[in-house]
Order: sequence, then structure tokens, then C-alpha cells
Amino acid sequence: MNLVLLGPPGAGKGTQGDRLAGECRVPKYATGDILREAVREGTELGREAKGYMERGELVPDELVLALVREALAGSEAEGGFILDGFPRTVAQAEGLRRLLEERGCELDAVVYFDVPEAELLRRLSGRRVCSGCGAVFNVTSGLEAAAETCARCGGELETREDDKPETVLNRLRVYRESTMPLLAWYRKDSGLLRELVAVGSVEEVYENLRGAIGCS
Ligand SMILES: [Zn+2]
Repeated sequence: MNLVLLGPPGAGKGTQGDRLAGECRVPKYATGDILREAVREGTELGREAKGYMERGELVPDELVLALVREALAGSEAEGGFILDGFPRTVAQAEGLRRLLEERGCELDAVVYFDVPEAELLRRLSGRRVCSGCGAVFNVTSGLEAAAETCARCGGELETREDDKPETVLNRLRVYRESTMPLLAWYRKDSGLLRELVAVGSVEEVYENLRGAIGCS
């Protein structure tokens, strides 16, 4: 199973993708993780990417593609893989298709996690991060609603700059503008795209996800 998961920040594709990867025993690659790991390991591509990140610039498509190529080259991806948050642009999607053609394979499905904007805003602006241990909580999920301190280490919970409402709205707008052409491209392209209404409990969304990719 070669799968791409797309969706705005807060859509839950990370959580769902991790679970699917575990149950299907395939590796999951999130672009952010690949980037951070390459930078940490100080590989040639990592050093190049670091330069862009430090200047606050987007890492160019070609470089992201090279990093994905490197990640997929490992033997663990032979039986399938899940890509989380990649591709982000039509150029990256075209590059991914060429890359897979070289490997003699193709994508089986592209799943788009569709969540109404109001719900995304609620989820994202409810996110709190522990200043001590980095644990992530959601004050809208009920359980930790009253908590101002971390349930794990007692540290103070903070709202990241990224999760403030005005920043969230801007992130969603940027995401929408960059992703709509990509969705249109996949929609046109051989019926790969599955649009998943990713609202409800984690369990419900997971069942829908499995249904969407024809996994029983
Ligand atoms: Zn903590």
C-alpha cells in the first residue's frame, strides 16, 4: 500500500497515519520529520535544507523531493509506505510520480482529510504545549479542560505562537491556497483522490479512513 495523506494542520492525519502505519506495518514519513532528521544528522541534503530554514524560507521542491527519495530508498519502504504532508504542491506531486515510476511502483490512494474550518480553528487554538516536557494537550477535548499545568510533569502549559487564532487563520489560508490546485490535480488524475470527512471520534475517523482506502 503506497499512500499519501493530505489535510490541513489540525485535521488529525498524523494521529490516524501513525495508527494505520502500525497496523499495516509500513513506515510513515512526515516531511517535517524527514527534514528535522536530515538536519540533525548533518547529511548533505540536511545542511542545504538547514540554510533555507534558518533564513525562514521555504525549502525548495527539488530539495524536499531529494529528501523523500532518500527516505524511500531504505528497504523498509519496499512493502509500502505512508507519506504525511507530502506532496504540498503540484510540482512535488509530479516529482513524486516520476520518483515512484523509477522504482516501478505508483500510489494506491491519496486521502484528503476534510475538516470544516471552524472545527480546525477550535482544535488548533485549543492546543497547549507543556513548557517543561513538550507534551501536547487540547483544552477543547474536555479531559484537560480545567488544567493549566501538565498532567505529566506539572510544567506550565503554553499556547504556541503557531496556535494563536490569528496565526491559525493565516496558516489555514496559506494551506488552502497551496493545496487546492494539488487536490484538483489529483482529482483529475486517475481517480486516486479519496475525500474523507474527518470529523467525529478518532475511532470513527479511523474506520472511515480504512473504508476509504479499501482496507478491511
Ligand atoms: Zn510536561
